[in-house]
Amino acid sequence: MIPFLDLKKINEPYETAFQEKLKTVLHNGWYILGKEVEMFERKFAEYCQSKYCIGVGNGLDALILIFKGYIELGKLQKGDEVIVPANTYIASILSILQADLVPVLVEPKLETFNINPDLIEEKITSKTKAILAVHLYGQLSEMDKINKIAGKYNLIVVEDAAQSHGAENNIKSKIDPEASGLKSAVAFSFYPGKNLGCLGDGGAITTNDAELAKVLFSLRNYGSEQKYHNEYIGINSRLDELQAGFLNLKLPNLNADNEKRRKIAKRYLSEIKNDKIKLPFWDFSNNHVFHLFVIRTENRNDLQNYLVQNNIQTLIHYPIPPHKQKAFFSETFGWNNLSFPVTEKIHNEVLSLPMSPVLTESEVDFIIEILNQY
Ligand SMILES: *Cc1c(COP(=O)(O)O)cnc(C)c1O
Repeated sequence: MIPFLDLKKINEPYETAFQEKLKTVLHNGWYILGKEVEMFERKFAEYCQSKYCIGVGNGLDALILIFKGYIELGKLQKGDEVIVPANTYIASILSILQADLVPVLVEPKLETFNINPDLIEEKITSKTKAILAVHLYGQLSEMDKINKIAGKYNLIVVEDAAQSHGAENNIKSKIDPEASGLKSAVAFSFYPGKNLGCLGDGGAITTNDAELAKVLFSLRNYGSEQKYHNEYIGINSRLDELQAGFLNLKLPNLNADNEKRRKIAKRYLSEIKNDKIKLPFWDFSNNHVFHLFVIRTENRNDLQNYLVQNNIQTLIHYPIPPHKQKAFFSETFGWNNLSFPVTEKIHNEVLSLPMSPVLTESEVDFIIEILNQY
């Protein structure tokens, strides 16, 4: 069976280095917010060409903390509306709700799976204060257009980059808060299956906003910068020292891993030839890091079963759109009556093919051959 994602194979090359790192951390005798976290924050900020990086417990917390940070700074208020794509992973929407803000769903483009910037302005009201752009499947949203709208309406821009570590324009973080007056921050997850993954939960926030960074360093640690002095009502969401140690070993290979993913994507795009399969859009720029390679097909169950019979494992990202989730059935939401045809079509038709830096040439050959015979 070709597995959808072979995490063991991804981490095996690091085994000796991981063991050495465990020894180092063990012998340091300092297990929370120590040298490894500090080093990772410095290296990841540098990698993202951002002024600040704040290591946190996971990707969801990274998003929640950004919103809570802007609330502490008085830039957001409880009840403010946040524009978010309707077809994202649930975490994006939960983060808005956990910060007592109101998500306003906007349809994506069928071609890119990312928020349709042309549909944002019609959803803006006097309560709209932020846009949460999600770079789904590893492809950057149309940030030039989104930033322009944010500038026009003075909105905060938050990016959910949990699936897009290393995508080019994430790195060249385009917003300079001093020059543009715009507020922005980016959230990352290091969940094991992400393009940069640790051996448990982990996350980070990058930003050029000094004021926000200062609040976030405190908020993630009980609202305290100086031990037992609490300035904010914070939470406990710190990047684990040992996980930071593992990430320090993996970060130097992230660009090469992303390049391997793009190489596989190039082959899938040029060699899969089947009318029943719609291939994803890609402009061949480095603004896509192919966290997932997602095709569309009208008879998804049939194709997925056929692939299983041929020893190819696929997954669906995601089978149920957020507005159709049971969590939002209540009267306060009433989301289940909402209609998002593009989002619903995507959730009915998408299928993720095996994609990872350890997928071999012959496995890719085989997957293409089997798909072309379907
Ligand atoms: C994985 C993911 C998250 C959440 O990250 P966790 O570390 O699992 O909390 C948020 N948004 C998107 C788009 C994700 O894929």
